[in-house]
Amino acid sequence: MIPYARQDIQPEDIEAVVDVLRSDYLTQGPMVPRFEQAVADYCGAAHGVATNSATSALHLACLSLGVGPGDLVWTSPITFVASANCARYCGAEVDFVDIDPATVNISPERLSEKLEQARAAGGRLPKVVIPVHFAGQSCDMASIGRLAAEYGFRIIEDASHAIGARYQRAPVGSCRYSDITVFSFHPVKILTTGEGGMAVTNDEALAERMRSLRSHGVTRDPERMVLDCEGAWYYEQIDLGFNYRMTDIQAALGVSQLKRLDAFVSRRRDLVAHYDEMLVDVPVCLSRMLPQSESSHHLYVVRIPSEGRPGRRTRVFDSLREQGVGVNVHYIPLHLQPYYRNLGFATGDFAEAERYYREAITLPLYPRLRPDDLASITRKLSSALRS
Ligand SMILES: *Cc1c(COP(=O)(O)O)cnc(C)c1O
Repeated sequence: MIPYARQDIQPEDIEAVVDVLRSDYLTQGPMVPRFEQAVADYCGAAHGVATNSATSALHLACLSLGVGPGDLVWTSPITFVASANCARYCGAEVDFVDIDPATVNISPERLSEKLEQARAAGGRLPKVVIPVHFAGQSCDMASIGRLAAEYGFRIIEDASHAIGARYQRAPVGSCRYSDITVFSFHPVKILTTGEGGMAVTNDEALAERMRSLRSHGVTRDPERMVLDCEGAWYYEQIDLGFNYRMTDIQAALGVSQLKRLDAFVSRRRDLVAHYDEMLVDVPVCLSRMLPQSESSHHLYVVRIPSEGRPGRRTRVFDSLREQGVGVNVHYIPLHLQPYYRNLGFATGDFAEAERYYREAITLPLYPRLRPDDLASITRKLSSALRS
């Protein structure tokens, strides 16, 4: 079975990991700050805070912005569950803003309408909006940034798909229009640390707060202590934090992988161009790429026109799996998950997200995929569509 995603591990990655295993520090050593600096430099952001997952980084990002009970956080319904769960961990309420079906990203028009309606009804406005850069293409951050200024919300970019992508020529993660940007280094993503994530920001106070909460809310810095430092052994817990630390083993893998980030993205771009070319005469719809966005091409999604043909996507999906193509579906709309249904969401709430979901199939895409794999996948897709 050709998988839909796969990591790229080279001998130099293995050496980097083995070097850490032979060193003094498996965790809390020099590799984590080195990886944080390297990612922050790549993005043109001031600070990086590495974590054991993007989920943890999203949680820390929400906490550092003061999200708590009584607050409202909005995100896209077409994302992985972590984009919304991070707000729930803080006791906040979640709501969704429908997608733009052309890009599958949160629709700035729907966002603007929903904000206007909330304000007109004297309703609650979101404290934080979490745009998700679906499949690696940046959301329309300039529009979302304008709305943030008008309505006073903060922005966390969920860039789990989008390290190596660009928006208005700047790397995603420069945080020009946001407070914090979060990346994931799970093996299916653009680059990997096994498990891992990072929050980048230009705000030193937010970085400081995320660092503290990442490690139990404990400090060894006498400057930050509430009581008098009692000696060299002394530390203080000044907040209720977690153990969300990344290990040095993971960070070393990240530093090594980061050197190939541009090569990964350019390889993905070539494969996508190849897919696009091979699919010109195949009756599927592709996402629109906006001129100001250079995607990192995390996912290659095709939509199977299914109007009046219910279940067609499922038949095509099953046929591809039977033919050894490890297709997937990204994502089941979050508001349709039982957990979110129990919070009051229902079928019909976000029509574009639901229509997209009925038609979407993710085809395999990763750097090691070969052109003849693409030819075989597109041939199998064509035959599945005919039957
Ligand atoms: C993968 C993913 C996450 C979670 O990443 P982890 O590192 O696995 O915690 C969050 N949001 C999106 C959009 C993702 O794709």
